[in-house]
Amino acid sequence: MSQIQPHTIRMHALDNVAIVANNGGLAEGTTLPCGLTLIDRVPQGHKVALVDLAADAPVLRYGIPIGYALKAIPAGSWVHERLLKMPDARELDNLPISTVKSAPQPPLEGYTFQGYRNADGSVGTRNILAITQTVQCVAGVTDFAVQRIKAELLPKFPHVDDVVALEHTYGCGVAIDAPGAEIPIRTLRNISLNPNFGGEVMVVSLGCEKLQPDRLFPPGTIEIQSLGGSRGTGSAGPLAAPPLLGAEAQSASGGIVVLQDDAHVGFMAMVESIMRQATQHLTRLNARRRETVPAAELVVGVQCGGSDAFSGATANPAVGFCTDLLVRAGASVMFSETTEVRDGIDQLTARASTPEVAQAMIHEMAWYDAYLKRGSVDRSANTTPGNKKGGLSNIVEKAMGSIVKSGSSAITGVLAPGEKLKQKGLTYAATPASDFICGTLQIAAGMNLHVFTTGRGTPYGLAEVPVIKVATRSDLARRWHDLMDVNAGTIADGTATIEDVGWELFRLMLEVASGRKKTWAEHWKLHNALVLFNPAPVT
Ligand code: CA
Repeated sequence: MSQIQPHTIRMHALDNVAIVANNGGLAEGTTLPCGLTLIDRVPQGHKVALVDLAADAPVLRYGIPIGYALKAIPAGSWVHERLLKMPDARELDNLPISTVKSAPQPPLEGYTFQGYRNADGSVGTRNILAITQTVQCVAGVTDFAVQRIKAELLPKFPHVDDVVALEHTYGCGVAIDAPGAEIPIRTLRNISLNPNFGGEVMVVSLGCEKLQPDRLFPPGTIEIQSLGGSRGTGSAGPLAAPPLLGAEAQSASGGIVVLQDDAHVGFMAMVESIMRQATQHLTRLNARRRETVPAAELVVGVQCGGSDAFSGATANPAVGFCTDLLVRAGASVMFSETTEVRDGIDQLTARASTPEVAQAMIHEMAWYDAYLKRGSVDRSANTTPGNKKGGLSNIVEKAMGSIVKSGSSAITGVLAPGEKLKQKGLTYAATPASDFICGTLQIAAGMNLHVFTTGRGTPYGLAEVPVIKVATRSDLARRWHDLMDVNAGTIADGTATIEDVGWELFRLMLEVASGRKKTWAEHWKLHNALVLFNPAPVT
């Protein structure tokens, strides 16, 4: 990137600060194209005062106050977080409700991908055997079996992409009847039903745990999409498993291996049970083929992590443009991260398609406010040292940059944490902003493709769903050339527009969803843990 031409980015006509785009920042004494001379060195991504700011004056970015000057700040100064008082959180009453009527956008037709159709109507982008665990106790045994399944069984089933153990820390030692416990339980249940797992639910249980299999899958949940019901018992076919041991109660859920069953004598008996059960599921998964489906079958979860001041200027606006394309194509898009959108609640309720949608959002925000208050913090606990080093002064500035991932469409749905998505269009899926917890909850919601923007850089990836990573800066994209899938830094460099990168991302999504292209995280098999959101006590 050229260092000769000083380059700053201003997000809104009202803004009295701009961020420095140049790699390495700009030196004291640099004169900007507008004629302003810097009186401090300003690091890349950090803000420069465009005018003299009096003490207590609002500092405006995205056209809204992201803080108030703690003292007079002369034009040309570096405006960092120590010079700003953070605004109070917007109250949750008297909000604008459904006031923005988005002009209907023309449908986007003719875009397709190659996906796996499921019996419940959903579409997978990958064909994965997932092994659900009721409790952490079984994780070691399951992992041992999975290594053998990968080495010994998977080569016989070439149409199956992978075998993934859904490991987590829940299941016992928890107050399972406490308010809030329903969140981790339904999250785990709905993860098992993710479209990428083909409707095959295989469960490994210990036997004595609090989260019993019939609590995880109460009558009426799995039977609806029961393997036994819709696909036969699974006993037919050339690769049918040997007769089951008593240890494998072939229930309507498709298959449960209980480690404490009396039939298991020795560790290897448990491993053999898991492998026999897996063979049945692999046989059915291996018979599936991709078919052409409309882009409307995409269920995209967007989030950001390791954000910097460019997140809201390059990558997130490009994702927002792509979100609008997806909504026009009839797809489902979820945006999340409650603490990172809380400061823009008035923008969100204004964009709600109906008052009911707005009220549901307010309900989720109020729940989260109370949750944080119980822990004696507020949404300002969100920002990280890396965010601040990257130029984000506080959660208000971060939130304004985060919300733009949601594009400009009307918000038509709201999900509580761990719930399963049932509609198309733009949905606010309430989750913590924690990358791993947000990703886990979006998997539970039924996400079949994940888009993740980063400015500081994170190698984030998931075993369950492909993750497309978008860099906010060209310097990050250059250094992490084999980790970042899209470079939105070209927007700051002036070599591409937000629309260009939005379309690039949209087209890449169809390639990745079709399995024609792997993301870098898939290529290297970079898989972060599933982290269940458990607001209830442990015991
Ligand atoms: Ca995040």
